[in-house]
Amino acid sequence: MVSDPNSIDLNDECTPYSYQPVLDVEKNYPPIWDTATLIPGDQAAASLFASINASVNSLLPADLPHGAPTGNWTGVTYSSADPDCWWSWNECTMPKVSFLQPDIISVPEPNSWGYGFDDGPNCSHNAFYDFLQQQQQKATMFYIGSNIMDWPLQAMRAITDGHQVCVHTWSHQYMTAFTNEEVFAELYYTRSIIKDILGVTPLCWRPPYGDVDNRVRYIASQLNLSTIVWEYDTNDWREGTGSPVVTPDQIDANYQEIIDAANNGTYANRPGPLVLTHELTNFTMSEAIKFYPKIKAAFAHLLPIATALNQTNPYVEQNVTYPTFEQYISGQNASSGAAGSTTASGTIIGSPSTTATPGKTSLASRQTSQVFVLLLPAFIAVSCLSMW
Ligand SMILES: [Zn+2]
Repeated sequence: MVSDPNSIDLNDECTPYSYQPVLDVEKNYPPIWDTATLIPGDQAAASLFASINASVNSLLPADLPHGAPTGNWTGVTYSSADPDCWWSWNECTMPKVSFLQPDIISVPEPNSWGYGFDDGPNCSHNAFYDFLQQQQQKATMFYIGSNIMDWPLQAMRAITDGHQVCVHTWSHQYMTAFTNEEVFAELYYTRSIIKDILGVTPLCWRPPYGDVDNRVRYIASQLNLSTIVWEYDTNDWREGTGSPVVTPDQIDANYQEIIDAANNGTYANRPGPLVLTHELTNFTMSEAIKFYPKIKAAFAHLLPIATALNQTNPYVEQNVTYPTFEQYISGQNASSGAAGSTTASGTIIGSPSTTATPGKTSLASRQTSQVFVLLLPAFIAVSCLSMW
């Protein structure tokens, strides 16, 4: 067990620990960082996969795996007509088939930034999450299944702090290179571990590197996961890599470009951007902290993605709810209603959630129904209280 889960000492935070709820279930999951496949004997997963596999083969028989999971497309041939709506080919986000929704790349409200971070939980994220907590700022966290197995207490903090959690695959590889079974297992087991450890079942995912096509979108849709990509990439994840090496100044400039665009009125009458940022390293998290005041000043609203999309039910579990966009911007966002500072918070709304469509400049259906202030399920509150 970790000695002090609230530590902001990087060595303390990243000292490996074992956590009984993970030990209890790890036999049901793929080895961490391996390409996920069906676990032998997992009949529930096998039968769900069999059904999805039959339909994907029927609907998209020509959409086959592309290249290698490392993103190596040497020797890959592909039609310039982009029949699979393959994001890595030309950033396609609008499938031309009736049974798939467009990817989400922006949020409906003008002057709004859909705030999200990929690749967590990072073992050393406490200083960053402390900062968000101090700002009463919620965000959307795209978590990797293998990281949750390694750092379950850090993962739980997202729920404790009221952040939204989405799926970011099991092993963080290029999804379009995988077989149908591997695509399914990467999503299915990440969704499952989030349920086992955090108690909620996400309805959203983001493909690593944006690498998605119709086959992968379809399998995700059959797991009730909407595909969220982005409109702008800060490239914070490239810092210190490449040749020539990507420098911190370049990442600063990328952030500043979006901020300048907002200040110049770019988003005054059009959907707000989803921006790719990470909790991957201490650099990426410190950039987020550094630019937070400028983003807040330049944009009217900085919102977790569910709220930006006016989705009041971000999980399958209907008793865990988020404020509407209107409620959030009027200050009913954060810990109001939670019993004590260590419980997560939210609101229970008396009517079904609505999903806004990307591309609209205003929310089609703002909810004005009566709000009931509430507590999260007791199991989350109890487990968080005991841990944090
Ligand atoms: Zn990622």
